[in-house]
Amino acid sequence: MKKYISLNFKQLLRILILPSLLFITQSIATRANADVLTSVKPIGFITQAITYGVTETDVLLPDGASPHTYSLKPSDLVKIKQAQLVVWVGEDLEAFMPTVLKGIDKDKQIELMEIPDIKKLLRTGTQNHEHGKLDSDDEHDHHGSYDEHIWLSPQIAKIIAKTVHDKLIDLYPDKRDLIDENLNEFTIKLAETEQSIAKKLINVQNSGYFVFHDAYGYFESQFGLKNLGSFTINPAVQPGVQTVYAIKQELKEHQAVCVFREPQFSPAVIEKLVNGTDVRIGELNPLGTDIALSKNAYSQFLLRLTQQLLDCLDKN
Ligand SMILES: [Zn+2]
Repeated sequence: MKKYISLNFKQLLRILILPSLLFITQSIATRANADVLTSVKPIGFITQAITYGVTETDVLLPDGASPHTYSLKPSDLVKIKQAQLVVWVGEDLEAFMPTVLKGIDKDKQIELMEIPDIKKLLRTGTQNHEHGKLDSDDEHDHHGSYDEHIWLSPQIAKIIAKTVHDKLIDLYPDKRDLIDENLNEFTIKLAETEQSIAKKLINVQNSGYFVFHDAYGYFESQFGLKNLGSFTINPAVQPGVQTVYAIKQELKEHQAVCVFREPQFSPAVIEKLVNGTDVRIGELNPLGTDIALSKNAYSQFLLRLTQQLLDCLDKN
């Protein structure tokens, strides 16, 4: 006991501060030259599982930013140039990427929508949602003919993980065993998660709902959810009387149980749309805004989304 007490202040400081300083310098050193950079966060969740213990994953878009409307900052350009590997979805989603990637070695970038195995699984855009679509301001006019919200497909996530795995082995051949193990763990964990989600959602397969952003098609078709359509309204503008009326008609006609807003829509706007109906308001977050990068983040992200769906749909 006496020994501990006899440590003087300076010694204590050295014990506490020196290792953390070393740690900080080390992480700066690794960050500067070894980075996998992803455009949107959920893709970062997938790559993080594969880069775990090998190198670091970093995400370009800050929380709260939409890939549909984002423009790059000078600091983003630095990050892109310094990255060992840039993983992004495709030019219909991230319109800001192609120009800046022109100067970057083709070998250092993966455009996911161009991967043949992913191409086979792509869904066409809003095809199934026509009846719910209202002609009004559409921030998604630039959406291409394929649904580019591919991170909401666990099936596609597995291909993304495998692609990043293969690329990482090229970049870090001496870490092959670890990279293999990471992919294996990711695949097993994801299979468990998919089973658990299927079980949870089975009770709400007949509860119809509308969304305000047609982003969930991959997830909905895998788990048999009843999306009745999507309303496209500008989140920044109060919808006009006609839009409100038309949306209310749709909600009634299709016996919707819920409408799901996303964080960019103020509750007041949505409130106005369901006012006088029995329709509940839920919230979905397609970008995993409040989930931190970690080995299991992708599963956490899917489970969170599942819970958000249940929170609104599963009330009787
Ligand atoms: Zn979208």
